[in-house]
Amino acid sequence: MLFGRSKKNPVKLADKGAVEWKYTTCGYCSTGCSIEVGLNKDGKAVSARGVGDADVNRGKLCIKGIFEYELFESGGRGRVPLLRERIHEPFREAGWDEALDRTAAEIQRIQAQYGRDAFSIVSTGQIMTEEFYTLGKLARGVIGTNNYDGNTTLCMASAVSGYKRSFGSDGPPGCYEDFEHTDCLLAIGSNLPEQHPIIYWRMREAREKRHFPLIVVDPRVTMLAQNADMHLPISPGTDVVLLNSLAYVILEEGLQDEDYIRAHTTDFDAFKATVQDYDPLTASKICGIDEDTIRNVARVYARANAAMTIWTMGINQSTHGSDGVVAINNLNLITGNIGKPGGSSLSITGQCNAMGTREWSSCSGLPGYRALEKAQDRKEVAEFWGIDEDFFPEKRGMFMTDILPAIETGQIKGLWLIATNPMTSMPNTARIRKTLEKLEFLVVQDAYADVETNEYSHVFLPAAVWAEKEGVFTNTERRVNLIRNVMPPFGESKPDLWIFNEMAKRIERDKKPGFPETAEQAFEEMKQLSKGRLLDISGMSYDKLEQQRGLQWPCRDGDATGAKRLYTDGVFQYPDGKAKLIPLPFVDNNERPDDEYPLWLNSGRVVEHFHTRTRTGKLGNQNKFSPTPYMEMNPDAAAAFGVEHGQYARLVSRRGDAVVMVQCTQRVPRDMIFVPFHYHECVNRVSLGLLDPHSRQPAYKQCAVRVEPIEDQQAAAAINLAARAY
Ligand code: SF4
Repeated sequence: MLFGRSKKNPVKLADKGAVEWKYTTCGYCSTGCSIEVGLNKDGKAVSARGVGDADVNRGKLCIKGIFEYELFESGGRGRVPLLRERIHEPFREAGWDEALDRTAAEIQRIQAQYGRDAFSIVSTGQIMTEEFYTLGKLARGVIGTNNYDGNTTLCMASAVSGYKRSFGSDGPPGCYEDFEHTDCLLAIGSNLPEQHPIIYWRMREAREKRHFPLIVVDPRVTMLAQNADMHLPISPGTDVVLLNSLAYVILEEGLQDEDYIRAHTTDFDAFKATVQDYDPLTASKICGIDEDTIRNVARVYARANAAMTIWTMGINQSTHGSDGVVAINNLNLITGNIGKPGGSSLSITGQCNAMGTREWSSCSGLPGYRALEKAQDRKEVAEFWGIDEDFFPEKRGMFMTDILPAIETGQIKGLWLIATNPMTSMPNTARIRKTLEKLEFLVVQDAYADVETNEYSHVFLPAAVWAEKEGVFTNTERRVNLIRNVMPPFGESKPDLWIFNEMAKRIERDKKPGFPETAEQAFEEMKQLSKGRLLDISGMSYDKLEQQRGLQWPCRDGDATGAKRLYTDGVFQYPDGKAKLIPLPFVDNNERPDDEYPLWLNSGRVVEHFHTRTRTGKLGNQNKFSPTPYMEMNPDAAAAFGVEHGQYARLVSRRGDAVVMVQCTQRVPRDMIFVPFHYHECVNRVSLGLLDPHSRQPAYKQCAVRVEPIEDQQAAAAINLAARAY
């Protein structure tokens, strides 16, 4: 019997003259789609198609993947290194030696003058895992700064923190195949059709074949909510209350998996005692979901043979982000839904290689999920790298969201940014601008010279992008995918790996680790360091990764393929092998709407764009379909604030203001507006971004604003002014 789309005719691609197809992996989101780039007879990239026998995407690509081949020659690429003495002066073009020598000299000057930690490094989730590993070796083993982090603090830090607190280690336990086995899917703060279209397609195919309940928790009627069996329009930032209350009902009605709790968890009594404060009636008054619905969802979830929860930024980007992840893990631990087909806590990651940086970059510790806080881990890595153990700090340094305030206070004097753009991505743009102006030295390493943050740099290092180099990414389901080199680097840009290696040569230290020249050599080194660890990749090779269209870790030496799930034996990464059930009392500590600023500001993504539009803002189709910042506003609210559909309006918070176009829709409730976060002149001019105490991730999705009418001419002037500010 045929199901769903298999009845339809296959899509026929327009013939763009491709004569050769090269295998690689999409470089946008963490889904990890296998892609082939078509080259014409002149070697120019002219087309792209999904790889049919790749398990992740099974021939499909979303709009970003389909047009990704246009990236190679898109506008704004960095062609040569750029230098200047003072910011806001014109840059001059320079050779690589001069740019690298100047950067190395500034790093060493700042460290000699102010101490090793006064020079800071913030990287990304965009480069190859081998590059992350090499950067970690450079930062931890040569430069020796402890103020080294990645922009994944802005998107995935709460998931990392929550996994570590519950299971003793980071690492998503589930996989996409779980959609084919689950009997209930709870999606919290995750709008799959727009954020991860191919994961959505996998879920939808599975649900068309075998219907299972889809319960969506989101303050907004997202595209996913429109397809749900139940939509719970929760009050922003109160997920922990709802999840505690689901646990209350499950325990009250005896629906928990007692055997699993007894065998595989600790601290059940303390957890149970805290949950007693969250009966559905009390919870309903905080989270806005009525008592009966809470009871119903708890019963459906707990009675399912296998149930899974997915989430994205709706959970992570909150002052309770880490607690929200722990609460999801608590729910799945008490119902025995970890490590079994269809039963999982699966965080849907953001950037293409956010997982790679978590695993190998040493940002939060040492490579291979090792911790600076553990003497044995420091010793192992120091011996492997051939350096002194006491060169490592004994605990991690600042997160990205603490590094920028430390520039304000003068604690940090120099910064190296790698493929990250805080002028657009950080909350409170006006404050970030002043912060960057205080630096004695800023080096920006990016594929694009026109990123907003480059306005504040002294040195710009042009990096190769995506398939202009080779290496691996790890996707949301722990699948390591190979990126084959499709094109040579643009202009005189260089792979990030080459830049890190060259920098290592220029920093003076008594003992230095070795730096392999190629990505594949670095991968072989990582394999050795991974042996016996949770993320064992010793059974992988580049050729095997291409043949099998990616392999999930652990994949041990001698394994024919990778493992689909973690914790299938119920043994977790804490020394006693058990997972922790953690009590989560809720403290409401965020800015809330009031008389002066009566609306919630919610932010998120649109399908056409990726992050700060550094790439997608340059590509015709993506920009054509989604060119303008806008805000979704309930028609009743629009009438009350005196603005109309299609007009410009001013969005005002305690931090600043932004001008956006009004789009009236019932998707948002009367007390909320929604603004896509991609546009640099927009949402982060007003956002607050209080930090989660565990993960230091900002609460981008919850702050208070008001809306004011504005004449079109004024709007145009304001937009131009905002654009000029960069
Ligand atoms: Fe690329 Fe993500 Fe789209 Fe797949 S879903 S094609 S990985 S952007």
